[in-house]
Amino acid sequence: MKKYLMALDQGTTSSRCIIFDDKGHPLVSAAKEFPQHFPTEGWVEHDAEEIWESQLYAARAALEKSGLSPTLIAGIGITNQRETTIVWERETGKPICPAIVWQCRRTAAVCERLVADGHGEMIRAKTGLAVDPYFSATKLQWILDHTEGARERAKRGELLFGTVDSFLIYRLTGGRVHATDPSNAARTMLYNIHTMEWDAELLSLFDIPREMLPAVRPSSGVFGESDPALLGAPIPIAGVAGDQQAALFGQCCFEAGSVKNTYGTGCFLLMNTGNRAVCSENGLLTTVGWQIGDQTTYVLEGSVFVCGAAIQWLRDGLGLLQSAAESEALAASVKDTGGVYFVPALTGLGTPYWDPYARGTIVGLSRGTTRAHLVRATLEAMALQTVDLLTAMQRDAELPIPALRVDGGASANDLLLQLQSDLSALPILRPACIETTALGAANLAGLAVGVFKDLEEICQNIAVERTFTPALAEEKRQHHLAGWHRAVERALRWAE
Ligand code: ADP
Repeated sequence: MKKYLMALDQGTTSSRCIIFDDKGHPLVSAAKEFPQHFPTEGWVEHDAEEIWESQLYAARAALEKSGLSPTLIAGIGITNQRETTIVWERETGKPICPAIVWQCRRTAAVCERLVADGHGEMIRAKTGLAVDPYFSATKLQWILDHTEGARERAKRGELLFGTVDSFLIYRLTGGRVHATDPSNAARTMLYNIHTMEWDAELLSLFDIPREMLPAVRPSSGVFGESDPALLGAPIPIAGVAGDQQAALFGQCCFEAGSVKNTYGTGCFLLMNTGNRAVCSENGLLTTVGWQIGDQTTYVLEGSVFVCGAAIQWLRDGLGLLQSAAESEALAASVKDTGGVYFVPALTGLGTPYWDPYARGTIVGLSRGTTRAHLVRATLEAMALQTVDLLTAMQRDAELPIPALRVDGGASANDLLLQLQSDLSALPILRPACIETTALGAANLAGLAVGVFKDLEEICQNIAVERTFTPALAEEKRQHHLAGWHRAVERALRWAE
């Protein structure tokens, strides 16, 4: 009888809840935005209390909309903005200071010093991560350094650290469970992804008391039951994964070599590398996808900073478009870009170039260039940046990539996906349910509580809405990629 699953999708700007049935169909959803705080330039904070309240609101609203009794919900899956760092009191559950959000750059100088002091290699080898303010370790260190008495209180066991998943679990269980899963732990820069443990050397480097760290439990498994006062019945919290890993799971990328790309503001490409943690030679991160039982699935991750944001810039910065969706028809009104390339390095370039001094560059303009050509060049750039990530992954993992599964706001654009297929020479699969992040969390939970028997049953539930197949001759494709790389060359090191 208990066959519904509740996914809590705690994002950077809003908290959402989707209730799925046992066929993976979304029944209802609810969302609540919460405030972003920017205390000084480059700093980004959330109020963890506002995260909690908005998430609880969304869960209750979805439940009410569904008309379901909470006793019919078999399990809760949590997926969350990653790396965001929260410290709270064990006794009261109250945060002691603002949450430091993944985007916050306040520890940039600390990270530069770590690299200068020669810690970069050790950190990469153990955590799979590049030293960057993005990850939790330096944020947590900052909180302990800048909050009076915090480190001492943490040593006495009075303060707890967690990423957003951990904080939500703590609150949902009425303070009974302090835990996280390896996909979130792997983003803290304190967790050894090979031994699957908090790492003593890293804890000592960042001066983090071990007493404050959550227990790390498998991503699919019962973490605890929600306090019945919150949702009207005790519900097992049975699945936890960071947002990108949850999307990979939701896309059923269960085989080594399977890849998904999320086209949002930026884009995130993740490849399942099976039980092998592949060390990247091409600027990708190595991280944990999920842990089921004692089996760990690793992934390679690459990100592009500006993807859909380039369309936003055409719309808001240049006024070339009324809406993002209009980009498709306008770009389709010309047969090609007329030789124009746009490298949208508006905030530098990420994988595989890693050049913070790169800047946006448009090349190949002529008298005949129109806004349609420029819009088409922007869609092509979204696809070409993805090709660069795919190439890096293929080189590192030495795995053939059979197809690319896609999601995210801009994956609604058919022309973009056809260009992606042509330029990567891969079939592109767009699922019927584009809520892949929430679906992944629900599926992890469903697997733990027996709504699904195994991964195979989960796969039977997903449907491909449309497949885009390559239709560009290989010679033309290579010519195009060469043009793109010449354009990238001109964008690199510009601001230096
Ligand atoms: P995020 O979760 O990062 O906020 P979304 O997944 O909601 O992003 O996607 C929004 C982004 O996708 C925006 O940057 C927008 O410009 C872009 N976008 C949305 N629809 C389209 C479209 N039809 N064609 C191209 N880009 C689009």
